[in-house]
Amino acid sequence: MQELSHYIDGKHAKGGSGRFADVMNPATGEVQARVPLASAAELDNAVARAAEAQVGWAATNPQRRARVMMKFGALIVEHMDELAELVSREHGKTLPDARGDVQRGLEVVEVCMGGPSLLKGEFTDNGGPGIDLYSMRQPLGVVAGITPFNFPAMIPLWKLAPALTCGNAMILKPSERCPSTALRLAELLTEAGLPDGVLQVVNGDKEAVDALLDNETIQAVGFVGSTPIAQYIYGRAATNGKRAQCFGGAKNHMIIMPDADLDKAADALVGAGYGAAGERCMAISVAVPVGKETADALIERLVPRIEKLKVGPYTAGEDVDYGPVITAQAKERILGLIDSGVEQGAELVIDGRGFSLQGYENGHFIGPSLFDNVTPDMEIYKEEIFGPVLSQVRAGSYEEALKLTMDNPYGNGTAIYTADGDTARDFAHRVNVGMVGINFPIPVPLSYHTFGGWKKSAFGDLNQYGPDAFRFYTKTKTVTARWFSGIKDGGEFNFKAMD
Ligand code: NAD
Repeated sequence: MQELSHYIDGKHAKGGSGRFADVMNPATGEVQARVPLASAAELDNAVARAAEAQVGWAATNPQRRARVMMKFGALIVEHMDELAELVSREHGKTLPDARGDVQRGLEVVEVCMGGPSLLKGEFTDNGGPGIDLYSMRQPLGVVAGITPFNFPAMIPLWKLAPALTCGNAMILKPSERCPSTALRLAELLTEAGLPDGVLQVVNGDKEAVDALLDNETIQAVGFVGSTPIAQYIYGRAATNGKRAQCFGGAKNHMIIMPDADLDKAADALVGAGYGAAGERCMAISVAVPVGKETADALIERLVPRIEKLKVGPYTAGEDVDYGPVITAQAKERILGLIDSGVEQGAELVIDGRGFSLQGYENGHFIGPSLFDNVTPDMEIYKEEIFGPVLSQVRAGSYEEALKLTMDNPYGNGTAIYTADGDTARDFAHRVNVGMVGINFPIPVPLSYHTFGGWKKSAFGDLNQYGPDAFRFYTKTKTVTARWFSGIKDGGEFNFKAMD
């Protein structure tokens, strides 16, 4: 069986702890590799080496650092199909979806190619008599990225590209369920000219993460994963004096107004609800049609579309709509939640529980499920299901639909389908959610904007990628300078305005 490694000092390094996790093939349910789980001592050694390497990297001028990103971007393009296959092999998503995973990460690398302009400081000429002020953005030192299983390329790239471009070294701790893409990206960075030790990929579980949170050299932690872990990591990192941004789970609502184009809304819901088997933090998992007529008409349009969905392994061709969920435990949990929906009185319009695929009986496949008449007290509404399950909650009015969305503890993404600009504008203005789509189902902002949820979907400051990332991964130093020209008065003892 394939034994994976860490990536330390520009090369692969065997695990030394004796502990491993199985990396599954979600389509067959078989173990296809094992990944080493780092001990605290291995983690600390990787950090110490990164700290040494960071000094020279920070002293490399920003344009040269950006050139590494230029070569890295070109290598990602060159290896796009290979990277997508690595994603699909461990995650199970379809190849076109895996290419999207790599592409949306690549776009952040592309912004980093122009990193020097985002690292420029600020200058005030003559802020007082003979006084100039300037602010510079300096790297933090060694920072950490902890990433989830569901975007094995995109989220590591969202973390590492801005962090490195800013002159930091990074310890990347990818998901132990899908570690191979991060290891391959690290190899490509070495090929692109990144000095050894500046990116260390350390595989592991809670033991490595805790060591990282307690390591005094680590200055900042960027986390993406489930809400309970995000909150835990934020708390422990902040207590230890680290800068932290921790992005968590989601329950994204789409409001469908009576004036919406219902065919377009139904198409969007099917893609956003079932794509990647629902394992996206920006998946739409709750449809909220306004009015009985809208709700009935929407169900009528959803059912034939959902029944047509093709579920299968990524190797079955490009017309597969979605693949298996990540683990047998995830499958059991999702099936249990569907059971609970039935028990608690929701109407199961399409039941995906009995799904089985010939030749892949042990794979983690689940057919698409659709619930109608879901109410907010049900488990299927309260839990982030993270599976191919769409719940319809009927609302009597726009205000009721808006309130439902706003009362939900999560605030990652939301969408509204309507033909009325006034309603759309009102929704975008009032809703307490970080990313809003108007007639657009998965509003992941482009790489030169930034990504981040509100409420329980994010803890800490600033968003991921875009200008916010350049603020997160640098600290500001402001210099107030006066150069004397001639004879000056003696010292001044009053704290006063610069007039
Ligand atoms: P997860 O929280 O189980 O794991 C995320 C990372 O944390 C992994 O690297 C894992 O090894 C580590 N980890 C897990 N348990 C830990 C513990 N007890 N202590 C310390 N570290 C621990 O999440 P996941 O299942 O890999 O990913 C799915 C979740 O991520 C979903 O909730 C999804 O909504 C969320 N997500 C959020 C965003 C976002 O930007 N808001 C993006 C993608 C995914």
